[in-house]
Amino acid sequence: MSDNSSFVLRGGIAFSESINNIVTYYRGYLVCVDGICQGAFSELPEKYKDLPLYDYGERLIIPGMTDLHVHAPQYTFRGIGMDCELLEWLNTYTFPEEAKYQDIVYARKAYSFFTYDLMRCFTTRAVVFGTLHHEATLELMNQLEETGLITYVGKVNMDRNGGEHLQEADAKASLEATVKWLDTIKGKFQNTMPILTPRFIPSCSDELMKGLGQLSKEKGLRIQSHLSENLSEVAWVKELVPQSSCYANAYELFDTMGTPECPTIMAHCVHSDEMEMDILKKHGAFIAHCADSNMNLTSGIAPIKKFIDAGVNIGLGTDVAAGSSMNMLKTMLITLQASKMYYRLVDQSVKPLTFEEVFYLATAGGGKYFGQVGTFKPGYDFDAVVIDDSKMFTMRDMSIRERIERMCYNDADAIIKDKYVKGKKMFSSMVV
Ligand SMILES: [Zn+2]
Repeated sequence: MSDNSSFVLRGGIAFSESINNIVTYYRGYLVCVDGICQGAFSELPEKYKDLPLYDYGERLIIPGMTDLHVHAPQYTFRGIGMDCELLEWLNTYTFPEEAKYQDIVYARKAYSFFTYDLMRCFTTRAVVFGTLHHEATLELMNQLEETGLITYVGKVNMDRNGGEHLQEADAKASLEATVKWLDTIKGKFQNTMPILTPRFIPSCSDELMKGLGQLSKEKGLRIQSHLSENLSEVAWVKELVPQSSCYANAYELFDTMGTPECPTIMAHCVHSDEMEMDILKKHGAFIAHCADSNMNLTSGIAPIKKFIDAGVNIGLGTDVAAGSSMNMLKTMLITLQASKMYYRLVDQSVKPLTFEEVFYLATAGGGKYFGQVGTFKPGYDFDAVVIDDSKMFTMRDMSIRERIERMCYNDADAIIKDKYVKGKKMFSSMVV
């Protein structure tokens, strides 16, 4: 019980006990043994008294956050082209940029910016899109492995509609490249796992989609993709897969919607109706809700409260570069604001999300995709972020609950001091 992933942290602790309840401790104790959380306490239990204790004083300690949807190769052009909608933005900005990752020198440099910044934000787990390129995706995985973060990374599949420079020759070539990538990384990484990544149905022929569904089954590999983000995209999928009853059903027809044991992540679901909601639930799929991205590309507002009430798995995604920042606090804030506008402008029978719900989605909701992750209950992986909010001056006596809410609304003044992933400290008193 004395290795360096066994210790006690002391500070202002906050975590979700359920989607409607945040538990807090002022100057409480948080115990980690062999990378696993043993719980939070007001008084330190006798049996943990010999563990090293790190006292963070008045600082806040919250669970690490999970970014369920982020595109690594888009990071360096975030914040550009935001007057476009999805399909124009992909063709004008995204595809030409991703084509550059054919060049490993370019990829290495660009990915170093991505991984450096991902290390220094509130995220401890992420599910990441690469590009379709073999070498560049290996480079991305190598760099992420070195960070200590725990991630899934996908080599993207595209055999149509990517233009001359961002497209694999055909389904066979795309599937062979995927198998080659999987063979190359076998046994190579501890914290960086592969995930099958058909970009979306317009980018992948029927044959390729079926092949990926088969590969997922054969190798027990998870899948990530996009679903019902934009109305033109939804109409296009209906043309491409006319036998489907809806976009989600098209994925079902290709056997790529996964199972509760091997869940698929679908980003967006802005225009998903009851039928799609039922399909997502039936398969145990996770929705990556990307409110910042959905605002920027004028896609719409996903009815997240309805999905929560229906019991669908949900986490948050930054969706850089359609989302403009990897800061999960900013993503939480936009999620809250978007749900308030959905209630006011779209459907007053759907109540706005509460802060409790959004804090849960950013931590335990997305964390569930990785197993026992995203809260400080006993038995969960010890992922934690230590935050200094002392620059947010106030005349009030603030509770821990109030401090984490205002931190979300004033993210620029929340300074990360330390970060732990499965009990491993990533930096020594990092300064961002
Ligand atoms: Zn995306």
